Amino acid sequence: MSNESRIDIRKVTKLFGGAKAVNEVDLTIEGGAYCCMIGPSGCGKTTLLRMIAGHETPSSGTISIGGQDVTALKTGSRGTALMFQNYALFPHMSLTDNVGFSLKVRGFSADQRRTAAREMLDRVQLLHLADRVPSELSGGQQQRVALARALITNPKVLLLDEPLSALDEFLRLRMRVELKRLQSELGITFVHVTHTQPEAIALADQVVVMDHGVVEQAASPREIYNRPHSPYVARFMGGQNVLGGKVEKLDGNVAVIAGPDGTRYDLTDAAGLKAGDAVKFSVRRDRIDLSDARSEARNATSGKVINIEYQGTFVKVSLDTGLREEFIVYMDDADYFAAPKEVGQEVRATWQPCLNHFLRGTNDSAGMPHE
Ligand code: ATP
Repeated sequence: MSNESRIDIRKVTKLFGGAKAVNEVDLTIEGGAYCCMIGPSGCGKTTLLRMIAGHETPSSGTISIGGQDVTALKTGSRGTALMFQNYALFPHMSLTDNVGFSLKVRGFSADQRRTAAREMLDRVQLLHLADRVPSELSGGQQQRVALARALITNPKVLLLDEPLSALDEFLRLRMRVELKRLQSELGITFVHVTHTQPEAIALADQVVVMDHGVVEQAASPREIYNRPHSPYVARFMGGQNVLGGKVEKLDGNVAVIAGPDGTRYDLTDAAGLKAGDAVKFSVRRDRIDLSDARSEARNATSGKVINIEYQGTFVKVSLDTGLREEFIVYMDDADYFAAPKEVGQEVRATWQPCLNHFLRGTNDSAGMPHE
């Protein structure tokens, strides 16, 4: 299945009036991959999904599936199925008839439809409810019917528009596991639009982070999380502090950065930088030590504790370091409770220089919705 279900998006732009909802997107989604598209509201992810499905036509550029240019093909003939956010089930039809409906449109006999629909309902563990109508189901069950209905056409690509957003937290986590299981059983490509970072990280082989109609970064969840491309990706995906400064000098591939308060940071992998360049870099919030000591260490920052939040497995400590952005430290809960902090206390945060990750991309926005 893998090459058959690969998606190649080449220079795709979508204009609504004069506004570019999607701007020259180039993206390859490997066949059989679980791809999650994420970005602030209005960044163009749904429009891109709808263009893959054939519900919108690109203003320019091409979309291929399995090597075939499908840009001008109708929705039903490009090997995709779209699962809608509101499930769009037929209220008066049984689950069997709901799931088998698209086969009716394609001319299959009543028997064929019934057999195929029951197989699909079995796959999503709803065969025992096959004769019910949608209003007799829970939200999670309705969602599985919608999934079965999308999958019955045997698509190469399943497109999911915020499939979990209507569910409560408990069901959302259960359905997440279910989606991943289905995707690996079927071996087809899933493209899933989400607002939720942990959902993207947990599900995807490939995370596509968008902003203002462009793809900011497309990579594995680990790469996106550990090596964000730009300050925007680091802030939007979370778990990072973004710092900045000017290159003071270079020592081989290590740049010495002078922060606005005079603190020095060592940035490895600084190839291409020169003295005087303004740079941004990130440091993971969970790799930082907090102490009361006032040392003159490099790769450190000091500030006043302004908020403490217990998160179960870790404690989130927010510092005001005099910069625009709060500096956040995730402390292991045992370490925290061995030496608790207090709001108002002055502390020093230190970390290993190898944790400074150079943010080469220039998008410095905060990742807010594009309303
Ligand atoms: P959300 O997460 O809120 O669903 P999104 O990232 O999916 O947002 P899109 O729905 O793709 O964003 O919208 C991208 C931009 O295109 C927005 O500015 C939106 O207002 C605009 N847009 C989308 N569909 C249309 C349309 N049919 N006509 C005009 N403008 C549209």
